[in-house]
Amino acid sequence: ELSLSPEPEPDDLLVEASLRPKTLAEFVGQPRVREQLELVLEGARRRGTPPDHVLLSGPPGLGKTSLSMIIAAELGAQIRLTSGPALERPGDLAAMLSNLSPGDVLFIDEIHRIARPAEEMLYLAMEDFRVDIVVGKGPGATSIPLDIAPFTLVGATTRAGALTGPLRDRFGFTAHMEFYEPEDLEKVLRRAAKILGIDLRPDGAAEIAARSRGTPRIANRLLRRVRDYAEVRADGAVTRSVARAALAVYDVDELGLDRLDRAVLSALVRSFNGGPVGISTLAVAVGEEPSTVEEVCEPYLVRAGMLARTPRGRVATAAAWAHLGATPPPGSPA
Ligand code: ATP
Repeated sequence: ELSLSPEPEPDDLLVEASLRPKTLAEFVGQPRVREQLELVLEGARRRGTPPDHVLLSGPPGLGKTSLSMIIAAELGAQIRLTSGPALERPGDLAAMLSNLSPGDVLFIDEIHRIARPAEEMLYLAMEDFRVDIVVGKGPGATSIPLDIAPFTLVGATTRAGALTGPLRDRFGFTAHMEFYEPEDLEKVLRRAAKILGIDLRPDGAAEIAARSRGTPRIANRLLRRVRDYAEVRADGAVTRSVARAALAVYDVDELGLDRLDRAVLSALVRSFNGGPVGISTLAVAVGEEPSTVEEVCEPYLVRAGMLARTPRGRVATAAAWAHLGATPPPGSPA
Protein backbone atom coordinates (compact mmCIF):
# COMPACT_ATOMS: atom_id res chain seq x y z
CA GLU A 1 0.00 0.00 0.00
CA LEU A 2 1.12 3.52 -0.82
CA SER A 3 0.71 5.91 2.08
CA LEU A 4 -0.77 9.32 1.32
CA SER A 5 0.02 10.61 4.77
CA PRO A 6 1.88 13.93 4.81
CA GLU A 7 4.07 12.63 7.64
CA PRO A 8 7.43 11.27 6.47
CA GLU A 9 7.64 7.56 5.68
CA PRO A 10 11.00 5.82 6.19
CA ASP A 11 11.82 5.84 2.48
CA ASP A 12 10.97 9.55 2.21
CA LEU A 13 13.67 10.31 4.74
CA LEU A 14 16.24 8.48 2.63
CA VAL A 15 15.78 10.74 -0.40
CA GLU A 16 14.51 13.94 1.14
CA ALA A 17 17.95 15.15 2.08
CA SER A 18 18.96 15.12 -1.58
CA LEU A 19 15.69 16.75 -2.66
CA ARG A 20 15.67 19.62 -0.21
CA PRO A 21 15.92 23.02 -1.86
CA LYS A 22 19.08 24.77 -0.59
CA THR A 23 18.31 28.45 -1.29
CA LEU A 24 15.26 30.68 -1.16
CA ALA A 25 15.42 30.98 -4.95
CA GLU A 26 15.26 27.19 -5.29
CA PHE A 27 12.31 26.96 -2.90
CA VAL A 28 9.23 26.51 -5.09
CA GLY A 29 5.87 28.14 -4.39
CA GLN A 30 4.77 29.92 -1.20
CA PRO A 31 5.33 33.32 -2.86
CA ARG A 32 4.08 35.33 0.13
CA VAL A 33 6.25 33.50 2.63
CA ARG A 34 9.25 33.79 0.32
CA GLU A 35 8.85 37.53 -0.13
CA GLN A 36 8.33 38.12 3.59
CA LEU A 37 11.35 36.03 4.51
CA GLU A 38 13.52 37.73 1.90
CA LEU A 39 12.82 41.07 3.59
CA VAL A 40 13.40 39.75 7.10
CA LEU A 41 16.71 38.15 6.09
CA GLU A 42 17.96 41.07 3.99
CA GLY A 43 17.08 43.55 6.75
CA ALA A 44 19.07 41.53 9.26
CA ARG A 45 21.98 41.10 6.86
CA ARG A 46 22.24 44.88 6.34
CA ARG A 47 22.09 45.57 10.05
CA GLY A 48 24.58 42.80 10.75
CA THR A 49 22.44 41.36 13.54
CA PRO A 50 20.58 38.04 13.77
CA PRO A 51 17.01 38.38 12.45
CA ASP A 52 13.96 38.18 14.70
CA HIS A 53 12.79 34.75 15.73
CA VAL A 54 10.67 33.09 13.04
CA LEU A 55 7.66 30.82 13.47
CA LEU A 56 6.78 28.55 10.54
CA SER A 57 3.23 27.36 10.73
CA GLY A 58 1.36 24.92 8.51
CA PRO A 59 0.45 21.31 7.80
CA PRO A 60 3.16 18.62 7.58
CA GLY A 61 5.16 18.05 4.42
CA LEU A 62 4.99 21.59 3.05
CA GLY A 63 8.66 22.39 3.60
CA LYS A 64 9.06 23.83 7.10
CA THR A 65 12.25 21.92 7.82
CA SER A 66 13.61 22.80 4.38
CA LEU A 67 12.83 26.46 4.94
CA SER A 68 14.59 26.52 8.30
CA MET A 69 17.73 25.13 6.69
CA ILE A 70 17.44 27.73 3.93
CA ILE A 71 17.16 30.51 6.52
CA ALA A 72 20.43 29.35 8.08
CA ALA A 73 22.12 28.97 4.69
CA GLU A 74 20.99 32.42 3.54
CA LEU A 75 22.43 33.90 6.73
CA GLY A 76 25.63 31.91 6.36
CA ALA A 77 24.87 30.50 9.82
CA GLN A 78 25.05 27.09 11.40
CA ILE A 79 21.81 25.32 12.19
CA ARG A 80 21.10 23.16 15.23
CA LEU A 81 18.05 20.95 15.01
CA THR A 82 15.84 19.68 17.78
CA SER A 83 12.15 19.22 18.49
CA GLY A 84 9.60 20.07 21.17
CA PRO A 85 9.17 16.49 22.38
CA ALA A 86 12.97 16.12 22.72
CA LEU A 87 13.10 19.05 25.14
CA GLU A 88 11.38 17.39 28.01
CA ARG A 89 13.70 18.64 30.75
CA PRO A 90 14.84 22.26 30.90
CA GLY A 91 18.41 20.95 31.20
CA ASP A 92 18.17 19.56 27.66
CA LEU A 93 17.32 23.00 26.35
CA ALA A 94 19.91 24.75 28.54
CA ALA A 95 22.59 22.49 27.06
CA MET A 96 21.53 23.31 23.50
CA LEU A 97 21.33 27.03 24.19
CA SER A 98 24.68 27.28 25.93
CA ASN A 99 26.38 25.51 23.03
CA LEU A 100 25.18 28.04 20.43
CA SER A 101 27.70 30.24 18.62
CA PRO A 102 26.82 33.85 17.77
CA GLY A 103 24.37 34.03 14.87
CA ASP A 104 23.39 30.34 14.94
CA VAL A 105 19.93 29.24 13.95
CA LEU A 106 18.19 26.96 16.44
CA PHE A 107 15.41 24.96 14.83
CA ILE A 108 12.73 23.51 17.10
CA ASP A 109 10.30 21.29 15.21
CA GLU A 110 6.86 20.69 16.73
CA ILE A 111 7.48 23.56 19.08
CA HIS A 112 3.88 23.37 20.37
CA ARG A 113 4.85 20.12 22.13
CA ILE A 114 7.63 21.64 24.24
CA ALA A 115 7.28 20.96 27.98
CA ARG A 116 6.30 23.88 30.17
CA PRO A 117 9.57 24.39 32.15
CA ALA A 118 11.63 24.34 28.93
CA GLU A 119 9.18 26.75 27.36
CA GLU A 120 9.63 29.18 30.23
CA MET A 121 13.40 28.97 29.86
CA LEU A 122 12.95 29.78 26.19
CA TYR A 123 11.17 33.08 26.97
CA LEU A 124 14.24 34.62 28.58
CA ALA A 125 16.56 33.10 25.99
CA MET A 126 14.55 34.55 23.12
CA GLU A 127 14.17 37.93 24.75
CA ASP A 128 17.48 38.59 26.48
CA PHE A 129 19.81 35.82 25.23
CA ARG A 130 20.10 34.61 28.78
CA VAL A 131 19.11 31.54 30.75
CA ASP A 132 18.71 31.08 34.47
CA ILE A 133 20.18 27.79 35.60
CA VAL A 134 18.61 26.61 38.85
CA VAL A 135 21.08 24.95 41.17
CA GLY A 136 19.95 22.96 44.19
CA LYS A 137 16.48 22.24 45.47
CA GLY A 138 13.98 23.69 47.92
CA PRO A 139 14.67 26.86 49.94
CA GLY A 140 18.40 26.66 49.24
CA ALA A 141 17.98 26.70 45.47
CA THR A 142 19.65 29.55 43.66
CA SER A 143 19.51 30.55 40.07
CA ILE A 144 22.64 31.42 38.16
CA PRO A 145 22.20 33.68 35.15
CA LEU A 146 24.14 32.58 32.09
CA ASP A 147 24.61 34.62 28.92
CA ILE A 148 24.10 32.81 25.66
CA ALA A 149 25.12 33.82 22.15
CA PRO A 150 22.65 35.94 20.15
CA PHE A 151 20.79 33.45 17.98
CA THR A 152 17.68 33.12 15.86
CA LEU A 153 15.03 30.66 16.88
CA VAL A 154 13.09 29.08 14.04
CA GLY A 155 10.09 27.22 15.41
CA ALA A 156 7.89 24.96 13.31
CA THR A 157 4.36 23.96 14.21
CA THR A 158 1.41 22.24 12.62
CA ARG A 159 -0.82 23.81 15.28
CA ALA A 160 -0.02 27.48 15.78
CA GLY A 161 -3.21 27.75 17.84
CA ALA A 162 -1.76 25.35 20.41
CA LEU A 163 1.12 27.71 21.22
CA THR A 164 0.79 29.68 24.42
CA GLY A 165 0.39 33.43 24.05
CA PRO A 166 3.74 34.34 25.67
CA LEU A 167 5.63 32.01 23.32
CA ARG A 168 3.79 33.20 20.22
CA ASP A 169 4.43 36.84 21.16
CA ARG A 170 8.19 36.31 21.21
CA PHE A 171 8.37 35.51 17.52
CA GLY A 172 8.97 38.59 15.39
CA PHE A 173 7.47 37.00 12.34
CA THR A 174 5.13 34.11 11.57
CA ALA A 175 5.15 32.53 8.13
CA HIS A 176 1.91 30.74 7.29
CA MET A 177 2.58 27.96 4.82
CA GLU A 178 -0.26 27.09 2.45
CA PHE A 179 -1.00 23.96 0.47
CA TYR A 180 0.69 24.14 -2.93
CA GLU A 181 -1.10 24.89 -6.19
CA PRO A 182 -0.84 22.14 -8.84
CA GLU A 183 1.48 24.31 -10.98
CA ASP A 184 3.90 24.67 -8.05
CA LEU A 185 3.77 20.94 -7.40
CA GLU A 186 4.68 20.39 -11.05
CA LYS A 187 7.77 22.53 -10.46
CA VAL A 188 8.63 20.54 -7.34
CA LEU A 189 8.28 17.36 -9.39
CA ARG A 190 10.38 18.65 -12.29
CA ARG A 191 13.12 19.59 -9.89
CA ALA A 192 13.03 16.21 -8.12
CA ALA A 193 12.97 14.36 -11.46
CA LYS A 194 16.08 16.22 -12.55
CA ILE A 195 17.93 15.37 -9.35
CA LEU A 196 16.85 11.71 -9.43
CA GLY A 197 17.43 11.30 -13.18
CA ILE A 198 13.78 10.55 -14.01
CA ASP A 199 12.42 11.21 -17.51
CA LEU A 200 9.34 13.15 -16.39
CA ARG A 201 7.13 14.50 -19.19
CA PRO A 202 4.93 17.59 -18.71
CA ASP A 203 1.66 15.64 -18.89
CA GLY A 204 3.04 13.10 -16.42
CA ALA A 205 3.99 15.88 -14.02
CA ALA A 206 0.50 17.39 -14.27
CA GLU A 207 -1.12 14.04 -13.56
CA ILE A 208 1.00 13.37 -10.47
CA ALA A 209 0.61 16.95 -9.19
CA ALA A 210 -3.18 16.67 -9.33
CA ARG A 211 -3.07 13.66 -7.04
CA SER A 212 -0.58 14.97 -4.50
CA ARG A 213 -2.94 16.67 -2.04
CA GLY A 214 -1.16 20.01 -2.29
CA THR A 215 1.88 18.52 -0.52
CA PRO A 216 5.44 18.33 -1.94
CA ARG A 217 6.35 15.36 0.23
CA ILE A 218 3.46 13.35 -1.23
CA ALA A 219 4.28 14.53 -4.78
CA ASN A 220 7.85 13.28 -4.46
CA ARG A 221 6.64 10.00 -3.00
CA LEU A 222 4.18 9.39 -5.86
CA LEU A 223 6.90 10.28 -8.36
CA ARG A 224 9.13 7.51 -7.03
CA ARG A 225 6.36 4.89 -7.28
CA VAL A 226 5.42 6.01 -10.79
CA ARG A 227 9.06 5.83 -11.77
CA ASP A 228 9.20 2.14 -10.75
CA TYR A 229 6.23 1.44 -12.97
CA ALA A 230 7.70 3.44 -15.86
CA GLU A 231 10.94 1.51 -15.68
CA VAL A 232 9.44 -1.95 -15.12
CA ARG A 233 6.33 -1.91 -17.29
CA ALA A 234 7.09 0.87 -19.81
CA ASP A 235 10.09 2.52 -21.47
CA GLY A 236 11.09 4.63 -18.47
CA ALA A 237 9.35 7.85 -19.50
CA VAL A 238 6.81 9.17 -17.00
CA THR A 239 3.90 10.26 -19.20
CA ARG A 240 0.27 10.87 -18.27
CA SER A 241 -0.81 7.37 -19.22
CA VAL A 242 2.08 5.78 -17.33
CA ALA A 243 1.25 7.89 -14.25
CA ARG A 244 -2.41 6.92 -14.47
CA ALA A 245 -1.66 3.23 -14.82
CA ALA A 246 0.90 3.30 -12.02
CA LEU A 247 -1.34 5.12 -9.56
CA ALA A 248 -4.25 2.82 -10.38
CA VAL A 249 -2.05 -0.04 -9.13
CA TYR A 250 -1.66 1.83 -5.83
CA ASP A 251 -5.34 2.79 -5.57
CA VAL A 252 -4.68 6.53 -5.69
CA ASP A 253 -7.50 8.14 -7.64
CA GLU A 254 -7.59 11.31 -9.81
CA LEU A 255 -8.22 13.53 -6.79
CA GLY A 256 -5.55 11.93 -4.65
CA LEU A 257 -7.99 9.87 -2.57
CA ASP A 258 -6.80 6.45 -1.46
CA ARG A 259 -8.77 3.33 -0.67
CA LEU A 260 -9.64 4.31 2.88
CA ASP A 261 -10.71 7.83 1.84
CA ARG A 262 -13.01 6.33 -0.76
CA ALA A 263 -14.30 3.70 1.67
CA VAL A 264 -15.22 6.48 4.11
CA LEU A 265 -17.02 8.48 1.42
CA SER A 266 -18.72 5.41 0.09
CA ALA A 267 -19.97 4.37 3.54
CA LEU A 268 -21.21 7.91 4.14
CA VAL A 269 -23.08 7.99 0.85
CA ARG A 270 -24.26 4.40 0.51
CA SER A 271 -24.79 3.20 4.08
CA PHE A 272 -25.84 6.45 5.69
CA ASN A 273 -27.53 8.15 2.78
CA GLY A 274 -25.07 11.06 2.87
CA GLY A 275 -25.26 11.61 6.63
CA PRO A 276 -25.24 13.28 9.03
CA VAL A 277 -23.42 10.54 10.87
CA GLY A 278 -21.01 10.58 13.80
CA ILE A 279 -17.32 9.93 13.24
CA SER A 280 -17.25 6.75 15.37
CA THR A 281 -20.18 5.20 13.52
CA LEU A 282 -18.47 6.02 10.25
CA ALA A 283 -15.21 4.52 11.51
CA VAL A 284 -16.92 1.28 12.54
CA ALA A 285 -18.49 1.05 9.09
CA VAL A 286 -15.07 1.07 7.43
CA GLY A 287 -13.38 -1.02 10.12
CA GLU A 288 -10.95 1.69 11.23
CA GLU A 289 -10.14 3.53 14.43
CA PRO A 290 -12.12 6.76 14.79
CA SER A 291 -8.84 8.63 15.29
CA THR A 292 -7.52 7.36 11.93
CA VAL A 293 -10.65 8.48 10.14
CA GLU A 294 -10.63 11.81 11.92
CA GLU A 295 -6.93 12.61 11.66
CA VAL A 296 -5.85 10.87 8.46
CA CYS A 297 -8.86 10.89 6.11
CA GLU A 298 -11.05 13.70 7.21
CA PRO A 299 -8.75 16.73 6.85
CA TYR A 300 -8.15 16.06 3.19
CA LEU A 301 -11.76 15.06 2.44
CA VAL A 302 -12.89 18.35 3.98
CA ARG A 303 -10.29 20.32 2.06
CA ALA A 304 -11.20 18.55 -1.19
CA GLY A 305 -14.81 19.66 -0.62
CA MET A 306 -16.12 16.09 -0.29
CA LEU A 307 -17.11 16.02 3.33
CA ALA A 308 -18.54 18.65 5.64
CA ARG A 309 -18.60 18.74 9.42
CA THR A 310 -21.92 19.81 10.89
CA PRO A 311 -23.07 19.95 14.50
CA ARG A 312 -25.10 16.78 13.85
CA GLY A 313 -22.29 14.82 12.22
CA ARG A 314 -20.44 14.37 8.96
CA VAL A 315 -22.27 14.88 5.68
CA ALA A 316 -21.31 14.09 2.10
CA THR A 317 -21.27 17.08 -0.25
CA ALA A 318 -22.67 17.11 -3.77
CA ALA A 319 -19.07 16.72 -5.00
CA ALA A 320 -18.76 13.48 -3.00
CA TRP A 321 -21.89 12.01 -4.57
CA ALA A 322 -20.64 13.04 -8.01
CA HIS A 323 -17.16 11.61 -7.35
CA LEU A 324 -18.70 8.23 -6.49
CA GLY A 325 -21.00 8.42 -9.50
CA ALA A 326 -24.07 8.40 -7.27
CA THR A 327 -27.13 10.67 -7.13
CA PRO A 328 -28.16 12.22 -3.81
CA PRO A 329 -31.70 11.32 -2.78
CA PRO A 330 -34.26 14.15 -2.70
CA GLY A 331 -34.02 16.12 0.53
CA SER A 332 -30.46 15.00 1.33
CA PRO A 333 -28.10 17.66 2.75
CA ALA A 334 -26.04 17.53 -0.47
P1 ATP B 1 7.53 17.85 8.50
O1 ATP B 1 7.21 18.96 9.42
O2 ATP B 1 6.48 16.79 8.40
O3 ATP B 1 8.95 17.34 8.55
P2 ATP B 1 8.10 19.81 6.63
O4 ATP B 1 6.99 20.79 6.42
O5 ATP B 1 9.20 20.17 7.53
O6 ATP B 1 7.44 18.50 7.06
P3 ATP B 1 10.12 19.22 4.71
O7 ATP B 1 10.73 18.06 5.42
O8 ATP B 1 10.84 20.48 4.70
O9 ATP B 1 8.64 19.41 5.22
O10 ATP B 1 9.78 18.86 3.20
C1 ATP B 1 9.54 17.58 2.78
C2 ATP B 1 10.16 17.36 1.42
O11 ATP B 1 9.34 18.01 0.45
C3 ATP B 1 11.54 17.97 1.23
O12 ATP B 1 12.57 17.07 1.43
C4 ATP B 1 11.57 18.37 -0.22
O13 ATP B 1 11.95 17.25 -0.98
C5 ATP B 1 10.14 18.64 -0.54
N1 ATP B 1 9.81 20.07 -0.54
C6 ATP B 1 9.11 20.71 0.40
N2 ATP B 1 8.92 21.99 0.06
C7 ATP B 1 9.52 22.17 -1.12
C8 ATP B 1 9.64 23.28 -2.00
N3 ATP B 1 9.07 24.45 -1.73
N4 ATP B 1 10.34 23.12 -3.12
C9 ATP B 1 10.87 21.92 -3.42
N5 ATP B 1 10.78 20.83 -2.64
C10 ATP B 1 10.10 20.94 -1.51
